[in-house]
Amino acid sequence: MPTGMHLPLTRPSGTRQASGLSLAVWGIIAALAAATGCEKDVATEASDSDANGYLCVKCGAKFWTDRSVFLASKCSKCQQDGLVEVVGYFCAKDHHLTLRGRAADRQGATTCEKCGAALGGMRLPRQKDLKAWGATHLSN
Ligand SMILES: [Zn+2]
Ligand SMILES: [Zn+2]
Repeated sequence: MPTGMHLPLTRPSGTRQASGLSLAVWGIIAALAAATGCEKDVATEASDSDANGYLCVKCGAKFWTDRSVFLASKCSKCQQDGLVEVVGYFCAKDHHLTLRGRAADRQGATTCEKCGAALGGMRLPRQKDLKAWGATHLSN
């Protein structure tokens, strides 16, 4: 065991350094957490959802599933491998959420489908957004 020989030598100094460092780090983290508490909530809101949205790029079918259910790429309507995950772009002007297939992201900037404004912030659509979008609920 080559590592067993090194372990007793390196551990004492390593432990002392680590505990001194982690104390300082925890102080900084606590201060940061207190200062950025609001921003953290926004980030959670953007990345947290209660549903998964899917769009078929072959036939245009829209689906949504419960959060714990994930679909393969095969579309249940046209039976082709066309399903992509759906993401949303929120318009601050009219509060409209524009939903897009994730693969379409590379095709230039996303604009609001209601007012045409350029949209930046991506966020996951929720169940109500996907229903309003016209997606069909799939349970498997
Ligand atoms: Zn399809
Ligand atoms: Zn808009």
